[in-house]
Amino acid sequence: MPESEGKIKKKDFKIAVFAGDGIGVEIIQEALKVLKLISDTRNISLSLAEGSVGGSAYDLYGVPLPQQSLDLALHCDAILLGAVGGPKWESLDYSVRPERALLTLRQKLDLFTNLRPVVAFDELLDASPLKKEIVRGINIMIVRELTGDIYFGQPRGVSKEKDGRRIGINTMIYSEDEVRRIAVRAFEIAQKRKRNLVSVDKANILESSELWRDIVSEVGYNYPEVTLRHMYVDNCAMQLIRNPSQFDVILTTNLFGDILSDEAAMLTGSIGMLPSASLGNDKALYEPIHGSAPDIAGKNIANPLATILSAAMMMRYSLSMPQEADLLEKAVAQTIKEGFRTQDIYQQGKKLIGTEEMGNQVVKKLRKLLS
Ligand code: NAD
Repeated sequence: MPESEGKIKKKDFKIAVFAGDGIGVEIIQEALKVLKLISDTRNISLSLAEGSVGGSAYDLYGVPLPQQSLDLALHCDAILLGAVGGPKWESLDYSVRPERALLTLRQKLDLFTNLRPVVAFDELLDASPLKKEIVRGINIMIVRELTGDIYFGQPRGVSKEKDGRRIGINTMIYSEDEVRRIAVRAFEIAQKRKRNLVSVDKANILESSELWRDIVSEVGYNYPEVTLRHMYVDNCAMQLIRNPSQFDVILTTNLFGDILSDEAAMLTGSIGMLPSASLGNDKALYEPIHGSAPDIAGKNIANPLATILSAAMMMRYSLSMPQEADLLEKAVAQTIKEGFRTQDIYQQGKKLIGTEEMGNQVVKKLRKLLS
């Protein structure tokens, strides 16, 4: 139907929903409430197909990513995932650990771009362990390469030396093409933001980083309007604490991105606030950056906002609903502004609420914004 008639063209989307383990089960429910509201109030059909991954899948099927879950992931428009893992499965062989499900999904769907926006809400400045004046206004997009590096490189494993002592090996490896495609993504993103890109590596020590730096610089020649800086990862870890507002877009490797994004999470006050999108060429997976938080699972105290904000990223990148994504982010901001807090971001004088109530508050605000 033409837009001039005031209606949005009807769309049908299939979304694979993997709650996973621990708090994954609780937080995903809150994101689903939001998606159902969008589906009910907009001329769009979201079919939500639930599947099993992680430790709970291992308990049922003996593997963390059963074939039916992989098939579901391969035949949907987007995946929403809670979290996987927990102490119950820690003694399992690496090949069947819950976390393997994530690595396999990333690899099979070629989800090579991981976007981790780090945005400090004004109302949560007190929740950050850093001084307010350091974190105020930060808005960083971390672009992490997700399908290469030491997480996938061969050889890997633990083996015995001739003298019987064991050695552990992992291989840090990047091909030119892998670096080029993630660099192009990062420059494209930087172009739509403040045009300031910092590429993080360890080129003073590591050959794979030397190649990384060369290729990123090469790609940079095609984006003269973007200012490119190279930074060593140890310096970046320090700069994130010293002066985070110098960063607009950070491009980095799989390993360094994993660590730096957890560090950056604390700028916002809690890891429970940070969403992520993992994008391939035609597939995408959305999940909070935190894990299954076994220490607080089943208590209705986990913060569901990272997962809800991941659903907003899904609306923006996979469902062609940028306006609804903006409204959802606004609903989250309003909820925080009105003083509602889960325990991880709680400050005295605010309203302490649980996981479910936090989801309900966001839904309440979103319903108004959508009408
Ligand atoms: P974690 O992110 O689960 O928890 C770290 C700390 O942050 C804990 O104190 C936890 O209570 C808190 N936390 C995390 N999410 C929160 C939320 N939404 N609200 C409030 N507090 C929150 O990391 P961990 O403890 O190192 O790992 C636990 C398990 O999760 C492990 O098995 C690990 O392998 C797995 N893990 C999974 C993923 C994933 O599924 N993407 C990511 C990281 C870790």
